[in-house]
Amino acid sequence: MSDCIFCGIVDGKIPSNIVYEDEEILCFHDLEPQAPVHVLIIPKKHYDSADAITESDEDKELFGHLMAKVHIIAKTLGLDKGYRLVCNCGEDGLQTVQHLHFHLLGKRKMTWPPG
Ligand code: 5GP
Ligand code: ZN
Repeated sequence: MSDCIFCGIVDGKIPSNIVYEDEEILCFHDLEPQAPVHVLIIPKKHYDSADAITESDEDKELFGHLMAKVHIIAKTLGLDKGYRLVCNCGEDGLQTVQHLHFHLLGKRKMTWPPG
């Protein structure tokens, strides 16, 4: 999608600090980290939000793959004591970038419930 920041990052048109990349997904450091470690994990293919995920074989394969990589990325970032995986969806979820992404945060004690 031409006016999407994260598609721009996928295409290499917008700079980012990449942590992990393969054919399907990209992981890069968040611009405004909310924890000592704060990265974003995204599908390279544009989805507006979690609402756009379907039960198609393609989506099952893609998001199964993405989820299976989370703990591997967490380990490479040294998150041995745990982490938080967050997906903000829509207006009430406070989603600000309309390209589906998962926040992976760690290296500090989280609080609950989130605000
Ligand atoms: P949301 O609020 O949609 O859940 O999260 C969007 C996240 O994207 C925010 O944490 C914000 O700091 C991050 N972000 C916004 N623009 C950029 C950018 O151009 N580069 C990077 N690396 N992160 C961004
Ligand atoms: Zn996009």
